[in-house]
Amino acid sequence: MAEKRDYYEVLGVSRDASDEEIKKAYRKLAKKYHPDMNPGNKEAEAKFKEINEAYEVLSDADKRAKYDQFGHAGVDPNGFGGSGFGGGFSGGFGGFGGGFGDFDFGDIFETFFGGTGFGSSRRRNGPQKGKDVKTSIEISFKQAAFGVEKELDILRMEKCDVCGGTGAKPGTSPKVCSVCKGTGQVQYKQRTPLGQFINVRTCEHCHGEGKIISTPCSVCHGKGQIRKARKIKVNIPAGIDDGQTISLRGEGDPGINGGPPGDLFITVRVTPHPLFQRQGTDVICEVPITFVQAALGAELEVPTLDGKVKYTIPEGTQTGTVFRLRNKGIPHIRGYGRGDQYVKVIVEVPKNLNEKQKELLRQFAELENENTHEQRKGFFEKMRDVLGL
Ligand SMILES: [Zn+2]
Ligand SMILES: [Zn+2]
Repeated sequence: MAEKRDYYEVLGVSRDASDEEIKKAYRKLAKKYHPDMNPGNKEAEAKFKEINEAYEVLSDADKRAKYDQFGHAGVDPNGFGGSGFGGGFSGGFGGFGGGFGDFDFGDIFETFFGGTGFGSSRRRNGPQKGKDVKTSIEISFKQAAFGVEKELDILRMEKCDVCGGTGAKPGTSPKVCSVCKGTGQVQYKQRTPLGQFINVRTCEHCHGEGKIISTPCSVCHGKGQIRKARKIKVNIPAGIDDGQTISLRGEGDPGINGGPPGDLFITVRVTPHPLFQRQGTDVICEVPITFVQAALGAELEVPTLDGKVKYTIPEGTQTGTVFRLRNKGIPHIRGYGRGDQYVKVIVEVPKNLNEKQKELLRQFAELENENTHEQRKGFFEKMRDVLGL
């Protein structure tokens, strides 16, 4: 690899350039050498990389100080995501499809360098995404299977109507902080035996907001936002399962300083069903039958999500036998078709028989032979084999 050029030289700024100057120089160069502006130009691509690397370091007070002190050895570009930064960066631009003339370059850079957290000099008064709001909703088994539209009460922050979101009492307006000139941070130089450090800290006067509200709005107490209850309609898709989450983009708290709003996450709770259990998209259900029905066969009425259906079991049905009803299960949440329903029959041995019933069973027992009980026959044969009885 070729020897690296001095980062200040790369950006064409002096060693004591301010953050603003560095940013300005970077924007100009990044625009000039961006791959979208120079398709297929390897030299421009290399330059663009070099510019980004230099900016990563010089835009970060901490890294800049280390670089000033130790040079390239003080900052390892692999240490802070050559791939993370580079990849995300070009990916972000790629999305614009080369339409450079149409969008505000400044905004993109604000988004990248203001709110996303590169380095320690991130500005508190830059755009920030609003907070996500989390809530849950309880629906029935059937609603989960077939989907439902629900109205939901949520509490979220909304712009204060009284002050229009400025946080200042109506009739007044926030003033630009005189200490930081609205940037929310203060830069200071520090001389040490090792060299000069440039440090940036949050402005104490305005707490990083960049503005001062002398008479706050009495409703939102200067925040510009207040918590409000709101009804939201949500379409719960067919096939959703207990514990799954629906996200509604942009329905969370509003963004700060022009940032995008947060999202709303709704966790779905499904009330257990008295008859049905769910396994993936299949429905499991147990149906008790009498031993006479089991022995002689019968037409059963089986509950399904679509109502009762008739199902004929053959004579000699054993307890625990499972029958499948195709397409009576739960719709696939993404895609077509439904799961199946599995019906497990449980043979109930009669209790509390009267004398006549008992007598009939005794007569029945006398008529029994080994062939009517295959399992029992097999069992005794095995027992004879094993125990030699
Ligand atoms: Zn207000
Ligand atoms: Zn300030």
